[in-house]
Amino acid sequence: MKLALSRKNLWDASPAWLKQTIGAALKLAPPAMVLGGAYRKALADARASESWTVEQVRERQVRELRAICELAYEKSEFYRGVMQRLSWTPAALQKPEDIRALPLIDKATLREQGRAMCVRPIDGRDVDEVSTGGSSGQPLKFYIQAGRSAVEFAYLVAGWERIGFRFGDTTAVFRGAVVPSKSLAGLRHSYDPLLRRHFYSNFHMADADMRAYLSHLATLGPCWLLVYPSSGYALARFILDGGHKPLTNIRGILAGSETTYPGQREACEQAFNAPYFTWYGHSEKLALAAECAKSSDYHVWPGYGFVELVDDAGKPVTTPGASGEIVGTGFINRVMPFLRYRTGDWATYVGERCEACGRNHLVIRGIEGHRTQEMLIASDGTAISWVAMNMHDDTFEDVRQFQFRQDEPGRALLRIVAAPAFGDAHVARILRNLDRKFAGRMQITIERVDEIPLTARGKTVYVDQRLKLDGAGRLVSPTQQTAIKREEVHA
Ligand SMILES: [Zn+2]
Repeated sequence: MKLALSRKNLWDASPAWLKQTIGAALKLAPPAMVLGGAYRKALADARASESWTVEQVRERQVRELRAICELAYEKSEFYRGVMQRLSWTPAALQKPEDIRALPLIDKATLREQGRAMCVRPIDGRDVDEVSTGGSSGQPLKFYIQAGRSAVEFAYLVAGWERIGFRFGDTTAVFRGAVVPSKSLAGLRHSYDPLLRRHFYSNFHMADADMRAYLSHLATLGPCWLLVYPSSGYALARFILDGGHKPLTNIRGILAGSETTYPGQREACEQAFNAPYFTWYGHSEKLALAAECAKSSDYHVWPGYGFVELVDDAGKPVTTPGASGEIVGTGFINRVMPFLRYRTGDWATYVGERCEACGRNHLVIRGIEGHRTQEMLIASDGTAISWVAMNMHDDTFEDVRQFQFRQDEPGRALLRIVAAPAFGDAHVARILRNLDRKFAGRMQITIERVDEIPLTARGKTVYVDQRLKLDGAGRLVSPTQQTAIKREEVHA
């Protein structure tokens, strides 16, 4: 990733001693001042949108959609071509739904038309080149202005505020930060005095590491946990399995960037005796959605992006309970606009308002991301979603971490990082419980390992799927499989 010189990028790149020095000086400044005007403006806007009426939401969305479409029409070769072919101009946008006159775009569009989608030169110092979607397909590149992080961060903070978070509160972070070396106390930890954040390494979550992290966490005073669902769950599981005494200073668990699996929220709330809060977003900055204090459904921020759900045929999904692919039109990216981009993530439509809190935001639930990576293929070809396996019983007790690897239909290797108490009885229980779901269509071999590698961004993949699946998670035909395997050998 090429990073431009923005305040945040400079900060991320500065050496620890410099941060300590600046940080000490900045302790005197109100924390919100530190992040600058864009942050403060976006935060005020996000807070205001909490109480917008339906009319205010729609009026704002029309204004933003028209602005981004006008920019695309005037400055992007690709979008202008699309609009001209349709004899459509942004002036035709009278209500948010009018955006549906434009075609959907997807990862292939990005790969083929990436440069032509841009509305300005991409070699500027204030433009970042970002790689995304690396784990299964080819990595994709897109471009975005360096200043967008402040806006996204403001919206994240506005979401967290719903359960009492305030910017400047002490926060403990387990989210893929590379924390290079152990201290004398055997701890992988670093501290950012500006944001008052303690960073720990979720690449190192052996028992001894977790014990050291939790002992250190206990000394921080009231603080928030900022985690991936998987790293938060690993810590909670460690406490619940008796690896460390429960902490009493955690104010809440803020968990995002991965799907929260059934059972993970409950385990975290029990282990830390604190509320769990999650959100949904992507590096393309198409949309951002967060829970509220009364509901675990996702409320889509109306000032950040426009979200539609569409079915396999591309038709809008607006029936409560029906599910569709999340399609986003982002308001933030002013370098490479994304208009009606298929994210590859799916969700269930709930409504245009949250009945629990009264916010007039689009409400969706049950978001499933990157689902082709999370499918297991049974011997009869059935694709079984890991989420659908719904293991919130005792199946994985005394298991720190696990991952399936599948190389052929009907067989899977289950790799396990086990706690000390793990034994033959646990193995038997896992096989028994899994077979209850797979019903004889999956031969599981269990292998105990010392660690399970995370993705480059420090996330967990629950199914290391080596079979080729199509966009809907179904197995492609055996002839295609062979062709793909041959290709991989040559690659
Ligand atoms: Zn709500």
